[in-house]
Amino acid sequence: MTGCICGKTKPFEKCCVPFLSGKAHPKTPEQLMRSRYCAYALGGYGEYLLSTWLPATAIGLTVADLSQKSVDWQKLEVIASSQKGDSGTVEFKAWFKPAPDQDDLESMHEVSEFVRIKSRWFYVGGAVS
Ligand SMILES: [Zn+2]
Repeated sequence: MTGCICGKTKPFEKCCVPFLSGKAHPKTPEQLMRSRYCAYALGGYGEYLLSTWLPATAIGLTVADLSQKSVDWQKLEVIASSQKGDSGTVEFKAWFKPAPDQDDLESMHEVSEFVRIKSRWFYVGGAVS
């Protein structure tokens, strides 16, 4: 029994697929962040990544680029998430395999910012540390 790619115990089909397929829209910044992680982990979801990216901060990004699976993401750990009105942040650690023959995972720590416009959440940007 495995849960969602985003780390939730819910199955992927019931957790992040509805968002990735456009059947539902994330209701919280954390839901959006988790589904976007799945999009990166799977590759091929550039359209979803771009459509959930605030246009003002997505300048220069393309569906083709965002569809590329450039990092071998393995695991997501949400550290904190908060929402205040129409803005929110999610702090997380995402683990990736730095090379195919390397078993030790490395992690990226980011605090992502989100904004809600007309009841839809968008990714604004993130501070990586
Ligand atoms: Zn999920």
